[in-house]
Amino acid sequence: MQLNCKVNVVNRLLPSAGQSGPSRLVWSNITLTENKSFVVELSLATARNKAGMKYKVTNNIEQIFSKFVSQGKLTLRFRQPAHDLCLSGEVKHMEKILAIVKGEVSQLKKGTLCPLLSNCTNKVVIPKTKLSILSRADYPVTTCFPETLTSLKISGIALKKFDRRLLYLKALEILDLSSNQITILPDSIHNLAKLKQLHLSHNEIKVLPSTFINSARVTCLDISHNQLGMIPSCISRVSGLQILKLDHNKIRSLPSTISKLRRLRTLTISSNEIRTLPESFQTLTLDHIDVFGNPFEKVQQEITLNPEDLTLKVATLRAISAKSTIKFKLKYTEEDLPATLITYLHESSTVCPCGKLCIDDGLAADGEINLFRVSGSVSGEKIVPMKMTLCNPACFQRFALKVVS
Ligand SMILES: [Zn+2]
Repeated sequence: MQLNCKVNVVNRLLPSAGQSGPSRLVWSNITLTENKSFVVELSLATARNKAGMKYKVTNNIEQIFSKFVSQGKLTLRFRQPAHDLCLSGEVKHMEKILAIVKGEVSQLKKGTLCPLLSNCTNKVVIPKTKLSILSRADYPVTTCFPETLTSLKISGIALKKFDRRLLYLKALEILDLSSNQITILPDSIHNLAKLKQLHLSHNEIKVLPSTFINSARVTCLDISHNQLGMIPSCISRVSGLQILKLDHNKIRSLPSTISKLRRLRTLTISSNEIRTLPESFQTLTLDHIDVFGNPFEKVQQEITLNPEDLTLKVATLRAISAKSTIKFKLKYTEEDLPATLITYLHESSTVCPCGKLCIDDGLAADGEINLFRVSGSVSGEKIVPMKMTLCNPACFQRFALKVVS
């Protein structure tokens, strides 16, 4: 049996000799064979060492660490030489190796397999991890995308649909579909659990699905040059986001939840239709922001409090529940609270500049924000209007119409 997986060979004698060997996973070719004397051998070859290393398996395994075999990890501790082989690969392969070394199943067809062939070890196939498709002719139609891909670029080939086959590339970390004609993204794009970068610039996407991505691993999201009218409030769930590019869309406003992106450092929203920024914006800490080319409203300099705003409003049950959940810092899961309340909690809470929480019961007011307060460098207008929610008339007098700087 031959298969490819990543292997880290740990020499247990090195630490006792005061040395430490290299510790890294290397793509290797593993061959398990049984010789005429029914002795199972494991042969390990890498691209550098094609001759490979042979380990006797029968009566030579000191210990098997198989706790994480369901995650594709397996460690074999050999007596002679004193090596630990830390294997990482497809689950089915790890299970197969485990079954063989345990002697539970004879995958080797006892007695029928020939001894290790000398040419077997020369075939170290390093699985493809990067793929770039820049012409229509290279697009795989009848074949599959390699499951081992960590980086995939499909750009400039007028792709009209998001290929659902991509959703099965579980190892994918970088996906670049820029410069195509994609209009709709699938809901299940969040299945790409290892995704770190998603490049979708220069497409025709109008709406982001509400379950877009909720992985904290994603650090870079580029959806510039599309047709987006809004950004869903669930963007806050991409909590590891550091770079967010939304330039050249038709976005009218940003969700207040954007302030929950605590790791965000670069935000570009140039050439959109944004008139005001949400109040929560002032809690961001950015290195760079680009707001160039937006039709920001001019803030009225004289404004009086509408008497209707001062009349006592009866809070809704939903607002009371939401407030209590936040006030008592209740930890909840999707099983504890109704979905509508969870969405409401994510979207509707704003904080008055005095620090008090407003849910549905604040006074709306216009203010201005000096963007240098939230970002080290600013492209475009420096002072822009901001929608504020103030908890009571006293705060209105105190904060409304003042530049927060
Ligand atoms: Zn207040």
